[in-house]
Amino acid sequence: MSKLSKLIVQKYGGTSVADIGRIKEVAKRVVRQKRKGYKMVVVVSALGDTTDDLIDLAHKITDSPSEREMDMLISTGEQISVSLLAMAIHKLGSQAISFTGAQVGIITDTSHTKARILDINTKRIEQELKKGKVVIVAGFQGITMTQDITTLGRGGSNLTAVALAKALGAKVCEMYTDVEGVYTADPRIVPGARKLSRISYEEMLEFASAGAQVLQPRSVEVAKKFNVPIHVRSSFSNKKGTIISKEVKAMEDIVVSGVTVNKNEAKITMCDVPDKPGIAARIFKRIAQSNINIDMIIQNVSRTGYTDMSFTVPQRDKNKTLRVAREVSRKIGAGDVTFNEKIAKVSVVGIGMRSHSGIASKMFSALARKKINIGMISTSEIKISCVINEKNAAKAVKAIHKEFGLGKR
Ligand code: ADP
Ligand code: ASP
Ligand code: MG
Repeated sequence: MSKLSKLIVQKYGGTSVADIGRIKEVAKRVVRQKRKGYKMVVVVSALGDTTDDLIDLAHKITDSPSEREMDMLISTGEQISVSLLAMAIHKLGSQAISFTGAQVGIITDTSHTKARILDINTKRIEQELKKGKVVIVAGFQGITMTQDITTLGRGGSNLTAVALAKALGAKVCEMYTDVEGVYTADPRIVPGARKLSRISYEEMLEFASAGAQVLQPRSVEVAKKFNVPIHVRSSFSNKKGTIISKEVKAMEDIVVSGVTVNKNEAKITMCDVPDKPGIAARIFKRIAQSNINIDMIIQNVSRTGYTDMSFTVPQRDKNKTLRVAREVSRKIGAGDVTFNEKIAKVSVVGIGMRSHSGIASKMFSALARKKINIGMISTSEIKISCVINEKNAAKAVKAIHKEFGLGKR
């Protein structure tokens, strides 16, 4: 067995370290585990809503802050929590040392605000673990080869934890949060949602990409790629949570694992786009060059040689997208570019969809019965998503959850 086979990586989210009382609780949990003989690497998020508050500060100055300066700003949140946690562990008589992402060599590319990790130099962490210290790492941040601070996208502490677990060969990556695991729907929206004991990487990836905030999609992607087992559990209890692992046979029997909602997208519509070959390629090439990720796309049938094209992007990229889309629109002789932020995307996810039919019609019927209009539809092998009016989001999730009987075993 390798030296680090008794290594656990733990990640504590914002609510788990929201105030000094919570930080002291986390310190106790870490020390308890360490005293059982484990080597501990602990990744922490910023306190409570700190990241949101920092973003709000920037937006009081400008609508489109420089992304480099944004990273400089929002990476500070995690530096507060790591140092406080280290002090709380010292107070309990244990040894601990805190680091920023840069200090432990988390090297990323230069895509500010959504950087990708290129490499982690684990030497310093290993040295400190060898000295018997708990190593506390600031989540969500890294550094480029040219020494600029980057962040890894919202929820990026999940990614820091998974990447460290992989780099150090940890036996498990525990994600401590404010719910007891991954549920069939957000338990805050659907009180009758059921905790899943196990879910495959693939389903979790679809689930997370569809808006189930509990894990950052990219962290699941990396966990899947390197087969890092994740245990999502609560920092408020000792109950077992949800294990995310490779697909196992029994999972296929479950047609739909859950329903989720994403209210963080905006719909952009380009009106009167000339309906001829090469136009879509031109539009989406320019958008991709601006580092904007498109989710759904629909194009209407054209009767006049012109058509409307709508697509969704993350709300935070709305202004940037509008600028680019308006510029392209002028060049290709298209019309107005409009947007709608009051949308929600509801999705059902399940591996069993591969072998069962009728899931889409069941979902549409549930929405129809509640008189909820569908604006856009998209499907993948294991997911169906509908865009609806934001005000109907909770009603839709509850109706679909009930329709598929997800609360019951
Ligand atoms: P943390 O600060 O610990 O990273 P987040 O707030 O980012 O926590 O994620 C946890 C939240 O994710 C929960 O409080 C819950 O409201 C939400 N959530 C959404 N969908 C789900 C789901 N299917 N299962 C569990 N939690 C979910
Ligand atoms: N603090 C960052 C955020 O709020 C990273 C994280 O919590 O994972 O997105
Ligand atoms: Mg989170």
